Amino acid sequence: MRVAIAGGGLAGLACAKYLVDRGHTPIVFERGDTLGGLVAAWKDQDGDWVETGLHAFFGAYPNMLQLLKELNIEDRLQWKQHTLIFNQPEKPGTLSRFDVPNIPAPFNVIVSILRNNDLLTWQQKIRFAIGLFPAIVRGNKYVQDMDKFSLSEWLKQHGIDEKISSDIFVAASKALTFIDPDEVSATVILTALNKFLQERYGSKIAFLDGAPPERLCQPIADYVIAHGGEVRVNAPLKQIVLNPDGTVSHFAIRGLNGTPDYDITADAYVSAMSVDAFKLLMPEPWKQIDSFYKLQELEGVPVINVQIWFDRKLTHVDQLLFSRSPLLSVYADMSNTCREYADSNKSMLELVLAPAADWIDRPEQEIIEATIAELAKLFPDQIPQPAKVLKAKVVKTPRSVYKAIPGREQYKPSQSTPIANFFLSGSYTKQEYLGSMEGAVLSGKLTAQRIHQSSANLTTGPSVQDFDQTSKQTPKQATQPSSDQSIAAKAPV
Ligand SMILES: Cc1cc2nc3c(=O)[nH]c(=O)nc-3n(C[C@H](O)[C@H](O)[C@H](O)COP(=O)(O)OP(=O)(O)OC[C@H]3O[C@@H](n4cnc5c(N)ncnc54)[C@H](O)[C@@H]3O)c2cc1C
Repeated sequence: MRVAIAGGGLAGLACAKYLVDRGHTPIVFERGDTLGGLVAAWKDQDGDWVETGLHAFFGAYPNMLQLLKELNIEDRLQWKQHTLIFNQPEKPGTLSRFDVPNIPAPFNVIVSILRNNDLLTWQQKIRFAIGLFPAIVRGNKYVQDMDKFSLSEWLKQHGIDEKISSDIFVAASKALTFIDPDEVSATVILTALNKFLQERYGSKIAFLDGAPPERLCQPIADYVIAHGGEVRVNAPLKQIVLNPDGTVSHFAIRGLNGTPDYDITADAYVSAMSVDAFKLLMPEPWKQIDSFYKLQELEGVPVINVQIWFDRKLTHVDQLLFSRSPLLSVYADMSNTCREYADSNKSMLELVLAPAADWIDRPEQEIIEATIAELAKLFPDQIPQPAKVLKAKVVKTPRSVYKAIPGREQYKPSQSTPIANFFLSGSYTKQEYLGSMEGAVLSGKLTAQRIHQSSANLTTGPSVQDFDQTSKQTPKQATQPSSDQSIAAKAPV
């Protein structure tokens, strides 16, 4: 089948990859001049990469790890020590570590909590461990049901101390969703806990060894092209044109740089754009259809990525750090964490500013100054003196991943839609991971599966059984499409 895919982020690229694997012919149309969407990056005038976002990979990303393995690029992930590190604003310049021992889950994480004496008293640790119990033992259904509560409400119901909430869950909530615990759905944090606590290496963190467009997206595009597909950048979808029966007749693509607009016809069509971009292009007649109408309830959340280059080394920590700053979320010294950005003499901090609703419209200089003022609390011996800022870059994303407030689960669409030849892909669609790179890759894989299943129903192409076996599923799982959400990839050691 020929499949037109609008959107060259991870979901669109993964969808194309899994379609060529099944003998289909995808064509990806990306609006921008580079692939990656929320993982895109560009080189500045000095040849330094400027990224849309600081990106960390986790051991509990089975579909991403599987994809890297299939592309033979798993060595591009640089796995860090199994530890979670928090700044301690009450003792400026100090860090608190949750070192996760190499013993089976969930005991490894529990031991790391029990061993940490900086942030928690024994009483708090015990309440914390008891409070986490439902997330560990009661499984996915329970986690989904908790979408009716905010994280703050859920913590209160489980008697988890205010201090733990402020010390750990604010940091986790900001890092995973770019919003605070009183706004975020309990389901989101419980999902992360569930994944991290169930797998020995689930919370182990890795960084890519370079910029995502080159090191992650291009290999997927190369694979697609080598297997008969196509990937076009600077090719924005302008309109989804319908047949009289409401199915898609063709995609109208805008020609850029003086080239004319053109039409693309295919057997199936995919929106792998963000939910906000898709809503703008949704054909008028579809707006009355329930599953499309419900998308009004999903909206991207603002976030800002800040990169600051210093004239000296601020830290040798080779890991993601949870700042516990009201302004900032996670950060990393990329000169330590990422091979391509390595510098033994100078630091380049990459920081996520979240929640960003109050900052997204402010001038870049104001954002940089506020970030440096916060960094003075994290590195009091070095900032503002003697370290000097060489340059700073700000990338604002007014609408990034969908805002994961309570009640959103019911609005997340399936990858199949009521329109027979139209499918959705993206980390906002229904999949059991968060609005994350893993969620995007999984959604792309599920979309490819849905398209393949529809082609198997319509044509004499490869059977669904074939598809699932080559996806390393058992034949039994072929009758349970959602089960491929837990395809196990080899965990990092
Ligand atoms: C600052 C930041 C930090 C993050 N940190 C992490 C992290 O540490 N770990 C993690 O797992 N995830 C992280 N994420 C989330 C992760 O990046 C996203 O969940 C994931 O990349 C989303 O992929 P996607 O393909 O679903 O959507 P997108 O990346 O939004 O892709 C959609 C694509 O559609 C294209 N498009 C839009 N309109 C059109 C059109 N008209 N025609 C053609 N193309 C169009 C866009 O240009 C884009 O390329 C972070 C995100 C941000 C912003």
